[in-house]
Amino acid sequence: MNTTIGGPRLAAIAVLCVTVLAGSQARAFRMIQNTSPIRTSTGFRVACDDPLGFAHRMTTSISWRLNTAGQGSKPGVVAALQNAMASWNSVAPATYTLSYAGTTGAGFVTDGINTVLWASGNGCTGGCLALTALVLAPGQAITEADVSFNDAVTWNTNGTDYDVEAIAAHELGHSLGIHHTELTKPRDRPTMYAYYFGIAGRSLETDDRDALNCAFNRYPPGLAPLVAGIPSDASAQPANHAGLMLTSRPRPGGAILRFALASTERVRLELFDVAGRELATLVNDVRDAGDYEVPWDGATGAGRASSGIYFARIVTPEGAAHASVILAD
Ligand SMILES: [Zn+2]
Repeated sequence: MNTTIGGPRLAAIAVLCVTVLAGSQARAFRMIQNTSPIRTSTGFRVACDDPLGFAHRMTTSISWRLNTAGQGSKPGVVAALQNAMASWNSVAPATYTLSYAGTTGAGFVTDGINTVLWASGNGCTGGCLALTALVLAPGQAITEADVSFNDAVTWNTNGTDYDVEAIAAHELGHSLGIHHTELTKPRDRPTMYAYYFGIAGRSLETDDRDALNCAFNRYPPGLAPLVAGIPSDASAQPANHAGLMLTSRPRPGGAILRFALASTERVRLELFDVAGRELATLVNDVRDAGDYEVPWDGATGAGRASSGIYFARIVTPEGAAHASVILAD
């Protein structure tokens, strides 16, 4: 079931099913999985080692801007956002650095700007406190996130409800690919708990830190930028995850994609344009172990794609990998 990664709900309307968990509650955190290259506020809740992976950042440096419309202009909001960013920045060994880059007129739209804003709507009304939208490129790379606080709620930065910093910390967790934790114990709730529980949400718990380190370890930032431009030697982009490799090289009239399977597996190989629109599915069946070359002549459901840069993604139960594809004339 796809579950929302929207903001914490008002505790007053939350029906909490408190479960007694035996033994360790370690690794109860969950990550956001959505393999559609779209703008979304929903995703599956999956464990760190889920075969299909999860949404993640490709770089460690992530800047945010504040739209000061509505309650975004309240005193203390900027400091609250900076404090929330500092909480995630302090997680180690992960090295993500979230930074405040000033104000913006940008809204809750896909524009390449990570924006925090206050609004009524954007899918967050009623008992919703805040909502995060992720912009996903092929391979579940988060290229942008926007956080919409519910302007119909009275927000504070002085330690009384509803607390900007606590909710900002929660939503920034979503912006890093972290879903709601499955921890349910009433004390020491992680920031990524699904329901609001006051300013205690400002401080990260071990479960939150484990989640970010999971992303950092599985998708080491900077190793394989999805949008790498035209490779200098016009040859293959490296595959990004151990085990599964996907490369591409141009050939007259098209491109050749290459992958290798260590065992018999179900394989799905798809092509996307730079906007993340799916253009073609080249492979969608079970293949035996071995090396494969799949030609692409640019054919899509809507005619031949023009020459240029595209993205390919391969998904198997073993994992996922992607490559830039140069479609030649
Ligand atoms: Zn949430």
